[in-house]
Amino acid sequence: MRKQIAAANWKMNLTLQQGETLIDELLSTPHELTENQLAIFAVPFPYLISIKNKLAGKKNVFVAAQNCNNKKSGAYTGEVSAEMLKSIGIQYVVLGHSERREYFSESNAMLAEKVNICFENGMVPVFCCGEPLAIREVDTQNSYVETQLKESLFHLTAEQLTGFIIAYEPIWAIGTGKTATSGQAQEMHAHIRSVLAAQYGNTVADSISILYGGSVKASNAKEIFGKPDVDGGLVGGASLIAAEFAAIINGLK
Ligand code: PEP
Repeated sequence: MRKQIAAANWKMNLTLQQGETLIDELLSTPHELTENQLAIFAVPFPYLISIKNKLAGKKNVFVAAQNCNNKKSGAYTGEVSAEMLKSIGIQYVVLGHSERREYFSESNAMLAEKVNICFENGMVPVFCCGEPLAIREVDTQNSYVETQLKESLFHLTAEQLTGFIIAYEPIWAIGTGKTATSGQAQEMHAHIRSVLAAQYGNTVADSISILYGGSVKASNAKEIFGKPDVDGGLVGGASLIAAEFAAIINGLK
């Protein structure tokens, strides 16, 4: 049975103290993770160790990096390598968020390298994909997302993709308050799974957790996550409010 996941993306928000307070508040807000559910906190690089230590011993709870560099090491001032993340015990890395694609020119080819280097270091990527508004308006989102998957993931083996995590995040719904309907989410998630099944077979496709991202909040999480191909969410704004994120965790199947 594939994992159901609530992933928080703090982006470039909060001081360390604010982040620690948020975790304290969340831990004291009723929420429950069953055996098959995970909570992942993608926090800024400088907080990874502190937040990881704070969450130590909490079952099914992990921290994630929000990015890593595609190169192994070297003269890349200001960058963080996969090996560095591994050395501090990080298990998950968010890759290809639309903000990184847009503001830092991350291409599908570069993301394929990032995915590889994460695997080389034993970490699982949370691979983001999703179309801009202009693509949705002309109804070509399926082929757009398919190309993102093919160019960044389809060199991987079935073994690597088994239990993988993909986040479908329509760009027009990120941070805009405009959520895709649960029907639109399900439609794209089913498409993504069928593209994966065509390449790797049903067993692999059915093992992959496909999260929805785009203005998920306490009030809409349960309905969106209730769709058969939606396996949880990648959450920006609402993950910065303890009560909201606790309710989102409780909305997991
Ligand atoms: C995100 O950052 O991945 C995201 C989906 O943001 P928001 O929930 O704020 O739309």
